[in-house]
Amino acid sequence: MAPLLSVSDLSVTFDTDRGTVTALDGFDVDVRRGETVCLVGESGSGKTVACESFTRLVPSPPATLDGTIRFDGQDLLAASERELRSVRGNRIAHVFQNPQGALDPVYTIGQQLVESIRIHRDVSRSDARRRAVRLLDRVGIPNPAERVDEYPHEFSGGMKQRAVIAMALASDPDVLVADEPTTAVDVTTQAGILRLLQDLQDEHGMAIVFVTHDLGVVAQIADRVVVLYAGKVMERGDVVDIFDRPAHPYTRALLDCLPRRGRDSKPIDGSFPDPTDPPSGCRFHPRCPHAVEECSTDGQPPLEAVDGEDHTASCVYYGDGRDPSVLREDASESDTMDGADLDGERDAGSTGEASSLGVSDDE
Ligand code: SF4
Repeated sequence: MAPLLSVSDLSVTFDTDRGTVTALDGFDVDVRRGETVCLVGESGSGKTVACESFTRLVPSPPATLDGTIRFDGQDLLAASERELRSVRGNRIAHVFQNPQGALDPVYTIGQQLVESIRIHRDVSRSDARRRAVRLLDRVGIPNPAERVDEYPHEFSGGMKQRAVIAMALASDPDVLVADEPTTAVDVTTQAGILRLLQDLQDEHGMAIVFVTHDLGVVAQIADRVVVLYAGKVMERGDVVDIFDRPAHPYTRALLDCLPRRGRDSKPIDGSFPDPTDPPSGCRFHPRCPHAVEECSTDGQPPLEAVDGEDHTASCVYYGDGRDPSVLREDASESDTMDGADLDGERDAGSTGEASSLGVSDDE
């Protein structure tokens, strides 16, 4: 299936007082209808900048964007502001981390939903209100016909996030870009929101780009995964590749951060690089237990096939004449997540108490 959204060789730089920051460098991703692609990495890895670049939400200046972003055949980097407005919030909708910031405290939830609906659809105010109530019902807000007239401060954190998702769905988007939408909510609410997104995807066939630093969340919802570090793609593959056969030392380090099988989580050694002065060579080399001399002298290694052209990693050990098995020499059984673990994570998100679409006022 041809990708609906195709990003290639995207770079985003910012001019700052401390110098030029390269937030993203050579980023590629294809997103197809009906699939969920997760962008994973620590804070500062470039995942939010990538998502905000899709519809040029990144303010330019100070940002400079270069590369190609094609959506349904249209080049969004070359599009006029007017052309972009017909895509942004309409065919590509965003849900941000902090629902508080996305809702205006002086208007009711219903007024804000009606406004969103009428921006995208030529409908009367009363029809828009009826659709607003249906949307609130669909995202699991109890008594939606009454709560539509409440203000954001009357909603709990989980309900606010559901209301923001309802606003994003007002236009029936083809792509939903969700940037850490569950970071500010508790585990039970998180599971409910993840299940909601999956159900909405099944109903509408929309693609989801999901940003998270939490591999537990990735295990629950991803079809494909892109692992980012300091603005560079480190590894790419389907979710089973990433969890069963992690190829890149950084991906392995992220997996080690997951507590499982009675084992404590193991934080990644070292600290995240200064974005104004990233390491030469492979950006992960100061923290990598497998680094060799060329890792710090040559540029970031190209993405090489690991076990099929859809599973790639940026590491010298996948270059010609290298033996990548050394990357696994220190790996115990618990360093990867086998299929049963992955199924367990998915089941935990879809069958447990937390997965209920219903939402309580406490949420
Ligand atoms: S290229 Fe070198 S530093 Fe980078 S992940 Fe591979 S071994 Fe580690």
